[in-house]
Amino acid sequence: MLQQTQVATVIPYYEKFMSRFPTLESLAKSEVDEVLALWTGLGYYTRARNLHKCAQQIVNQLAGNWPETPEEIEQLPGIGRSTAGAIHSLTTGKPATILDGNVKRVLCRFYTVEGWPGKPKVHNHLWELADKLTPQKKADHYNQAMMDLGATVCTRRNPACDICPLQSDCKAHEAGEQHSFPNSKPKKAKPVKRACFLIFRAGSKVLLHKRPSSGIWGGLWSLPEAESFEELGSLGTHALKELKQEVLLEEFRHTFSHYHLDIQPKIYELKKQPALVMDEARYEWQDLNNLDQLGLPSPVVKLLTKIRNPL
Ligand code: SF4
Repeated sequence: MLQQTQVATVIPYYEKFMSRFPTLESLAKSEVDEVLALWTGLGYYTRARNLHKCAQQIVNQLAGNWPETPEEIEQLPGIGRSTAGAIHSLTTGKPATILDGNVKRVLCRFYTVEGWPGKPKVHNHLWELADKLTPQKKADHYNQAMMDLGATVCTRRNPACDICPLQSDCKAHEAGEQHSFPNSKPKKAKPVKRACFLIFRAGSKVLLHKRPSSGIWGGLWSLPEAESFEELGSLGTHALKELKQEVLLEEFRHTFSHYHLDIQPKIYELKKQPALVMDEARYEWQDLNNLDQLGLPSPVVKLLTKIRNPL
């Protein structure tokens, strides 16, 4: 949950999640839909799907036992080299290297490492440095200290060099260049994509579409996307027959890490719900008052919450 997300945001989600899934077994046995519902609002839903798969893999293939080496931990879905090292060293105290965003920042500043850390050459150099520095004894203390130093002292915007225990040997501090490291990613404008969200509403019911399990918003319930009724085939034809009123809502932008999505929502108020046919298995009528039971992308939650009252 903490990947790309701040502690304060995570706490209520974590508490709710842990009270619903206190053990690996309970998580492994659950439906992915329920896991996604508890993740709604945190974003980066691949993390939730991977966590669920991890629990299933450990329970079903490893008889509920955690893998014993960082290399084995890294084989679990969604766990990279640094997370594997952190899990291993923090749970066993044995030496394992980590290199998360906080550690990268401290190393880049301490050694004035030139180049954007996302570049393979710089990335590999940072791993070499991190490997060399990780002690054989008390690696768990060292790793926790490095992560905490990056999170609380050597912060991204205002590093508190005055209270930093590394200050006397830090090259960036000596040169007064702490704000120049790590070097930024070369800028590239984010592309803009467009989508038309169709909100078919009949009373308190709204038609939702289950997205494929991979890709953006994988496995979440979203709104049908189409430019016209025709694009929706028989579903569109049936909906058109029941059409009472059509309202165009204001377009808004949702920004992902790698592109902007401009969303044009349209509400179609229907006299009654048209029945769904066999090839519409990925569609379901859901009650607007039960949205918290579903895994939904945050712009869909915002939209549906806004239009909960009849026009
Ligand atoms: Fe970061 Fe400043 Fe400490 Fe250097 S002295 S590691 S820049 S907080």
